[in-house]
Amino acid sequence: MSGAPQYKTLKGMQDILPPDTFLWQSVEQAAHRIFSAFGFQEIRVPVLETTSIFSRSIGEQTDIVEKEMYTFTDKGGRSVSLRPEGTAAVVRSFVEHNLHSLPSPQKFYYSGPMFRYERPQSGRFRQFFQIGVEAFSDPHPRMDAEVISMLGRFLMAIGLEQVSFQINSIGCEQCRPAYKDALLLFFADKKEHLCPDCVRRFDRNPLRILDCKVSRCIEARTGAPRITDHLCQDCRMHFGKLQELLVLLDVSFTVNPEMVRGLDYYTRTTFEVTSKGLGSQNAVAAGGRYNRLVKEFGGPDTPAIGFAVGMERIAELLKRSVSLTWPVPAAFLAALGDTAGNEVLRIADVLRRQNLWVEVGDCHSSLKSQLRRADRLAARFVFILGDEELRSGTLKWKNLADASQGEVKIAELQDFLTGG
Ligand SMILES: [Zn+2]
Ligand SMILES: [Zn+2]
Repeated sequence: MSGAPQYKTLKGMQDILPPDTFLWQSVEQAAHRIFSAFGFQEIRVPVLETTSIFSRSIGEQTDIVEKEMYTFTDKGGRSVSLRPEGTAAVVRSFVEHNLHSLPSPQKFYYSGPMFRYERPQSGRFRQFFQIGVEAFSDPHPRMDAEVISMLGRFLMAIGLEQVSFQINSIGCEQCRPAYKDALLLFFADKKEHLCPDCVRRFDRNPLRILDCKVSRCIEARTGAPRITDHLCQDCRMHFGKLQELLVLLDVSFTVNPEMVRGLDYYTRTTFEVTSKGLGSQNAVAAGGRYNRLVKEFGGPDTPAIGFAVGMERIAELLKRSVSLTWPVPAAFLAALGDTAGNEVLRIADVLRRQNLWVEVGDCHSSLKSQLRRADRLAARFVFILGDEELRSGTLKWKNLADASQGEVKIAELQDFLTGG
């Protein structure tokens, strides 16, 4: 009777189903563990915010704000948007709740869905998940190094080892204007070779031409002036110190002067992590320093740095590159008859208090069909409880993986399963 389902997810949105959710959980748990060790605390901000929060921070002229935001008018006539990224909302929260009055530096992490109305055929999702961190109030490159090395620790912890860090400095309000002028001069007679997007970006943000992926723009920028040659003394020292510290912390990286990142709010350090498995254009994580954003949101002058990790890409990479083992039940308790059915329920309850995954068979169906279910679940051990076992207090067990079998006393079942 089943035809095409009547209801489906919206275009560009997806359900995340088991066993993938196990993978997602393990990534999230690693994030909680590692970020906590670095003193980052979780912050939870709404998915819906006033539109101007994003247009202000990400930049009016960016693709995100111009084309990709889920923006609508709510019943009160306010323009609201689903968050396209995490930083703007965390900064809004930081200023709103005076979090700068907390002991400095203030370090936060978040995770959750983000929304961008992109063309779904490009393999991107309209609802996608990010885990991100933001560290406030520390202007020193030590914080940049800590944040970048923490990202490396996290990726290593989840099993991603084939990753490479690229870092850059995009300067500050002192040195970037002169660099922009140098770029404008360089591209002035190449304008007709650029893609329409870059022509549009030309006057407002010529830096973005440097990370355009269109081949004729890549060609046109051969020999373009490099930001790293135009940094002011302070930016140069900051960037030099960062590289020293990354070496100290054993983070291998390359300097990529063309990596400018698409967002308007970055100052000085920007970084990206790419993985061999996904091709160089697909960063699994990216971030940078944003020293002016808190002030622009009406807060005190507060330097900050952060990054965001794309969960879908991480999950895809892990599925491809790591041999995954999904959790399986520690025990399947098959029961024959009512009395045994009650007893396995009691036993299961005792074992579950030890956080063991225990499945209980249907005592009214045949042993054969119960064992079939145990097999499908790939339970590690199957125990069978019938009248005889009830009398003797001893269970027969079978290890489904190696087909070994034996007996164990009901009272000793917990030790048997936990290896105690
Ligand atoms: Zn500078
Ligand atoms: Zn272009």
